Amino acid sequence: MLRLIIFIGIIYAAYRIGKSWQGQNFFSINKGKGHEARQINDIMVKDPFCNTYFPKKDGFHLKRNGQNLYFCSTDCRDKYIASQTNP
Ligand SMILES: [Zn+2]
Repeated sequence: MLRLIIFIGIIYAAYRIGKSWQGQNFFSINKGKGHEARQINDIMVKDPFCNTYFPKKDGFHLKRNGQNLYFCSTDCRDKYIASQTNP
């Protein structure tokens, strides 16, 4: 009877060790970080000229008066600059 209890104890310990190794899955951690980085790149920004929302990575950047502006196209960016300089 005592042998059986020891045997069950060993099986249970092996099961717990196996569970803890599954928790430290390095592949899933790396995958999670990659997904997070992609979400930051895909942040939606508004074109101040035509008021269209688009992913920041697809936008055209303009720094103006210390503000970071993003435009859906170079056309919108140029028209925005023209509208600001010629009132
Ligand atoms: Zn636009």
